[in-house]
Amino acid sequence: MERNDIDRLVRRNIATLSPYSTARDEYQGELGTFLDANENPYENGYNRYPDPHQRRLKTRLSAIKGVPVENIFVGNGSDEAIDLIFRIFCEPHQDNVVAIAPSYGMYKVAAAINDIEVREVQLGDDFSLPVDAILGRTDANTKAIFLCSPNNPTGNAFPRGEILRLADAFDGITVVDEAYIDFAEVEGLKDEIFRRPRLIVLQTLSKAWAMAGLRIGLALADSRVVELMSMVKYPYNVSEATMRIVKDLLDLPVDDQVASIKTQRAVVMDALSRMKVVRRVYPSDANFVLVRFDDADAVYDHLIGDGIIVRNRNRVKGCEGCLRITIGLKEENDKLLKSLAEYETKSYLR
Ligand code: PMP
Repeated sequence: MERNDIDRLVRRNIATLSPYSTARDEYQGELGTFLDANENPYENGYNRYPDPHQRRLKTRLSAIKGVPVENIFVGNGSDEAIDLIFRIFCEPHQDNVVAIAPSYGMYKVAAAINDIEVREVQLGDDFSLPVDAILGRTDANTKAIFLCSPNNPTGNAFPRGEILRLADAFDGITVVDEAYIDFAEVEGLKDEIFRRPRLIVLQTLSKAWAMAGLRIGLALADSRVVELMSMVKYPYNVSEATMRIVKDLLDLPVDDQVASIKTQRAVVMDALSRMKVVRRVYPSDANFVLVRFDDADAVYDHLIGDGIIVRNRNRVKGCEGCLRITIGLKEENDKLLKSLAEYETKSYLR
């Protein structure tokens, strides 16, 4: 066990932290007369604190993901895991992380909140992963590299071999955010965590699993990393109500929904690629597609006029002229394509 490989990266205040010990930590039986947690004794289904270790939920997730419970951290969305990575490994005002750009905005926000420098490395041609440029930006104070694959907002997944080459060449934490992995044709990296203690794979129930409103994110990682995250999180970071609903919803398979979204993605991409106002439809391994238009702001406003809201990425470096369009239901996608066709007719009549 390369425990030291992780512990040498941990902030001193975290390494020496005595975590809060809950009443449920001190006595773990299920049955009894519970007079230990200052709860209201009148039963209403929610008068007791939830399991701070989320054992039942983790057992179910373990079966779904094929990853042992000790390698699963469950957070209030993957945003919680992102924040915890900064809080555990990065010394404010001293350490830095390297992140790809354009990518998911929360890496930068969480870094700023924690007073950590982010060194952004622009993706290469066609949004390729610039492994050597990323390594070139690391120094002795670089604690983590943030990658997102499939990447938001570009939509592409990076080749597994390149992510692993980067992770192996870097001696800090490599974070691979796989929020959209269920929509990709390629396999994710969760099985690699057993060979690589410094690899953290983030996943979420917000996308393919259709539970964005419930806020459940996962970090799949070496058990020591999971232990550190569990120590630093709020003791009851996932509510009893959430855990119950999630357990029920996990019993409803989403494979058919994911398959339909992928089919619709192909339909939408094909239709878009034949439009004159579209300059480029980027390949997508996610449930959205990045599209470059002649005049992205005008298209955005036109869609808003028809009550269709997409994400305007026109002012994001590397995404100039682009809108990010989520794949919806067939009716919604048809409405989008119809509105764009009308925009096209209007622009060519001008
Ligand atoms: N990672 C990526 C790449 C995302 O796009 C998002 C949400 N848009 C998240 C993480 C956040 O997911 P969660 O809902 O689990 O906090």
